[in-house]
Amino acid sequence: MTYEKDLSIVISLFNEEESLPELISWIEKVVVSNGYKYEIIMVDDGSNDRSWEIVHELSRKNPCIRGISFRRNYGKSAALYHGFMAAEGRVVITMDADLQDDIYKIPEFIALFQQGYQIVYGVRSNRKSDTYFKQKTASVFYKLMGFMGAGTVDDHADFRLMSNKALEALRGYKEVNLFLRGIVPLIGFESTKVYYERKQRVTGETKYSFRKMLSFALDGITSFSVRPLRVIALAGLLCSGLSILGLFYALISYFAGVTVPGWTAIVCSIWMLGGIQLLCLGVVGEYIGKIFSEVKQRPRYIVDEVVFCQDTPQSKDSL
Ligand code: UDP
Ligand code: MG
Repeated sequence: MTYEKDLSIVISLFNEEESLPELISWIEKVVVSNGYKYEIIMVDDGSNDRSWEIVHELSRKNPCIRGISFRRNYGKSAALYHGFMAAEGRVVITMDADLQDDIYKIPEFIALFQQGYQIVYGVRSNRKSDTYFKQKTASVFYKLMGFMGAGTVDDHADFRLMSNKALEALRGYKEVNLFLRGIVPLIGFESTKVYYERKQRVTGETKYSFRKMLSFALDGITSFSVRPLRVIALAGLLCSGLSILGLFYALISYFAGVTVPGWTAIVCSIWMLGGIQLLCLGVVGEYIGKIFSEVKQRPRYIVDEVVFCQDTPQSKDSL
């Protein structure tokens, strides 16, 4: 198969008006100096600032920039997925729009692809640019994901290269609740890591509020693993076992004549068991909710508008 372009850079953005011009000028510098035949696909995930107008302006100046805007905010995974599907390059590199990812690592990513790796993960060498809270919650998240049986790559967000072969495999995943960070390692191609220093966010602020992060983590776990259901079943089994022991204890105490009015014990067990049952119901409900949204087969996102790339510049040589 022949490819129109060597490289597609896919960027998901949500209210990033301040960083876009600088981001694009850095990317252009790197790709042009390396002579890649490229395209940049900017997926606007329902921004309500001037981001989409800026994408229009940038695409007018550089025909290699394509823009796609969603009708509303569907989340970064949906935006990246759409970018993947629209990409025409031999390889696709995804990155954030906030200049935190190291654009200068792009040639290193491509060199590794040329050595035969189909997926290259950009991994942070440290998390100094994050707040203490984010560092701690991220570390709990990765541990939890590992325990739940979903293999994610630690300290890797969405700065990664995927070959067209790997993307073809990704197209086979039809689920609506797409958890890219879990699915990409699952498709099982030859992969490697590139370590990079993640910079501070210079403009704007994080678009991941605590609520969004929590929903992302919950989504990740319930999209990937049925282990929480098993943990619940085990907890139920343990509780039943303990209650049989408790029954023996109560009977023996009764016959030994040492029973006292057991108000405290009764109230405690009601609260405890009630709590456990509610928790279990909540987890089961979470999975049922997921089944519900999957069977409806709603579209992952709705595209509002598209700005096209009209032409591609000449390159020195192909990948
Ligand atoms: N983003 C998005 N949709 C969202 C939230 C974020 O496309 O609903 C984009 C955002 O514009 C940025 C990237 O995802 O390009 C990472 O977001 P952010 O920098 O806010 O996350 P953080 O680096 O704080 O984890
Ligand atoms: Mg960021």
